[in-house]
Amino acid sequence: LRWEVIDLSETRELILEAKHVTKRYPASGDRMLTACQDVSLKFYKGKTLGIVGESGCGKSTFMRMVVSLEQPDEGEILFHGRDISRLKGRELRQHRQKIQMVFQDPAEAFSPKMKVMDIICEPLLNFKRIRKSEKEAVARKYLEMVELPGDFALRYPHSMSGGQRQRVGIARALVLEPELIVYDEATSALDVSVQKTIVELLVKLQKEKDIAYGFICHDMALVQSLSHQVAVMYLGSIMEVLPGEKVASGCLHPYTKAMIDAVFDLRMDFDKPIKSIESEAPSPLDLPAGCPFQNRCPRCMEICRREKPALRQIEEDHQIACHLYGQQGEQR
Ligand code: ADP
Ligand code: MG
Repeated sequence: LRWEVIDLSETRELILEAKHVTKRYPASGDRMLTACQDVSLKFYKGKTLGIVGESGCGKSTFMRMVVSLEQPDEGEILFHGRDISRLKGRELRQHRQKIQMVFQDPAEAFSPKMKVMDIICEPLLNFKRIRKSEKEAVARKYLEMVELPGDFALRYPHSMSGGQRQRVGIARALVLEPELIVYDEATSALDVSVQKTIVELLVKLQKEKDIAYGFICHDMALVQSLSHQVAVMYLGSIMEVLPGEKVASGCLHPYTKAMIDAVFDLRMDFDKPIKSIESEAPSPLDLPAGCPFQNRCPRCMEICRREKPALRQIEEDHQIACHLYGQQGEQR
């Protein structure tokens, strides 16, 4: 299954670029946990960058820095060429209007005493962009945009289904007319059929409004179906970046391949043994020297234990961090 997304070869307008971003957290016993290590990724107008990887690999940490909820320890986050990673006070507040984030269940963050119109309009009121008297009309407009009845403006979120609440969360993210929206596992808690209608809505809204999306998800099949680019993350590092439509047939990194095998074996061939990855991922507290994937990699070589492979361009729109592949993507 793939959504009709426009291909990447046409001219692209860069909106946000993360350059060599690293984030560490203090852990017990004076140790440091590396949640995100030297990550460089780009977001383009009207395009979706999907990030996929196992739980705990650093997807949310990276995106929290992209949306200015946290500051990187190293690296830069350029928004239209300007580093926004160290903004403070009024400048930070002003900037935050341009990038929004939608979480797994945004309704959890909503006060149960707030009506849907208050939830949707809160960001606009905070920035004094509308008057209180305009709330209901604005909420109705955005409810219709997310394909909910305008009358939902007067309801409370707890009287709605999970899918409807997620639509309210999307409406709330849209009201500031941001240039980039990050969805953090935003459809992961929903039934597959509801998930499908929400993804359809997201694809439609993106085409209408030309918004850049960041889409975090641990479901490889879903991520590749709607992303123009997919970044595969492992233990805080980016392993491979490639067009969504090439993930199933053209991925090269042993980790991406293992994930693809896990997805497609399960769905398509029940006679084949499921090739799950054998050993555990190392802890982000003790990142090994060399490649982060070395202890689980079926193709691990001597150099992989010594040297961390850099993320390199091997083709237009295809980057890989793996010693198996040389400059032009030829296999060693
Ligand atoms: P993902 O979203 O891919 O599941 P996260 O970005 O949430 O991963 O977490 C990456 C790593 O960073 C995990 O080991 C997690 O425990 C750790 N981590 C995330 N946020 C914090 C924090 N505020 N303080 C300490 N450790 C954190
Ligand atoms: Mg997360």
